[in-house]
Amino acid sequence: MSGSAIQPSVVVIGGGYGGINVAKALDGHAAVTLVEPKDAFVHNIAALRSVVQPDFLPRMFLPYGRLLARGTVVRDRAVMVDGRTVELASGRRMEPDVIVLATGSSYPFPAKTDDVETAAAIRRYGAAHSNLGRAGTVMLLGAGAVGLEFAGEIAAAWPGKEIVLVDQAEHILPGPYDQRLRDEINRQLAALGIGQAMGSPLTALPGPAAGELSPFTVTTTAGTRIEADIWFRCYGIAPQTSYLAGDLAAARTADGYLRVDSDLRVPGFGNVYALGDIAAIDVNKAGVAGRQAAVVAGNIIHQLTGEGGPARYTPSQPVIILPLGPRGGSGQLPNGEIASAEMISRIKGQDMMIDRYAEILNLADVPLTHAP
Ligand SMILES: Cc1cc2nc3c(=O)[nH]c(=O)nc-3n(C[C@H](O)[C@H](O)[C@H](O)COP(=O)(O)OP(=O)(O)OC[C@H]3O[C@@H](n4cnc5c(N)ncnc54)[C@H](O)[C@@H]3O)c2cc1C
Repeated sequence: MSGSAIQPSVVVIGGGYGGINVAKALDGHAAVTLVEPKDAFVHNIAALRSVVQPDFLPRMFLPYGRLLARGTVVRDRAVMVDGRTVELASGRRMEPDVIVLATGSSYPFPAKTDDVETAAAIRRYGAAHSNLGRAGTVMLLGAGAVGLEFAGEIAAAWPGKEIVLVDQAEHILPGPYDQRLRDEINRQLAALGIGQAMGSPLTALPGPAAGELSPFTVTTTAGTRIEADIWFRCYGIAPQTSYLAGDLAAARTADGYLRVDSDLRVPGFGNVYALGDIAAIDVNKAGVAGRQAAVVAGNIIHQLTGEGGPARYTPSQPVIILPLGPRGGSGQLPNGEIASAEMISRIKGQDMMIDRYAEILNLADVPLTHAP
């Protein structure tokens, strides 16, 4: 299609891990508009490192300016999408040939941030760093991947700090992972002196808000008393699909995810694709969103131009890369192997995969610094 006078139009809603990859792959094949309220791509894989290491923080925000050579990034928010019309918060309405839904998920701060201005997000992460630095004991509520990774980051940055992970589940790291992985993570948590209160919920949440530096005492239903100076909520992912309307809204599951067929189209909608955390077809992972982006882009090119062939998405094997600070951690690889701390450090722990995403945004040669 490239070079033709009138190109079919594609609107990609959401410029996260899925959206940037689809938009970039379609640039030149269609007139692409990427709709995103944030002023920069947020590389939230690095969010927990950014809390503990302020010089890392600015690198988490990657400007969209170089992503598309032909298409446009529109700084706006979709407020209504019914499968045919896209309505934005500014009042602008579009009726593109194809709609791609990639609005991802929200998660309590600091794992994700809902700030739309980089400067405001940097101030918020900076405040969390300062409060954490002054806390003697930290309670992390939730011992899934986020709570574990955050515990490892805090322990690596402030070795003297007391950290306790609290979860109503009996065991750390829910999910389809090998018990050998939990054993290895538990071994490293113990070596770092990170405490655990597992197997019973708190009788009530702490009085102070999450992230506030203010001493509190809580008790689990099993009677364990925990005194800490600050706490963070490390659970509560929520797919962002509330702007969907009509039959598109009806395609959501009870917990708000969007049903898709194996070609990543919403059932009954020939021109609406969905991918990443909102799609009810695989786990919530940036790597999954990236693989799905290739399928979505290939299918849209095939649909619009007849080029290539239709592609189907196959859900992934259980995979996780779980750093505990820059040099620790473990993970489960696609072949089922349990990864060593050295391997995790190399794959993720050292640079938190920043370079990979800077390259996708065509920023590999640009120094990434934002004034706070
Ligand atoms: C702390 C942490 C560490 C992680 N580490 C890893 C890891 O190492 N490897 C891995 O594979 N995964 C990791 N993940 C998971 C990964 O971050 C998510 O799976 C990924 O963000 C999903 O990408 P997405 O494109 O679907 O959505 P998102 O990245 O959530 O992006 C969605 C975008 O849509 C925008 N948006 C929302 N609503 C609207 C709207 N109405 N209109 C327009 N735009 C909208 C948002 O502003 C956002 O930019 C981690 C997650 C966390 C929280």
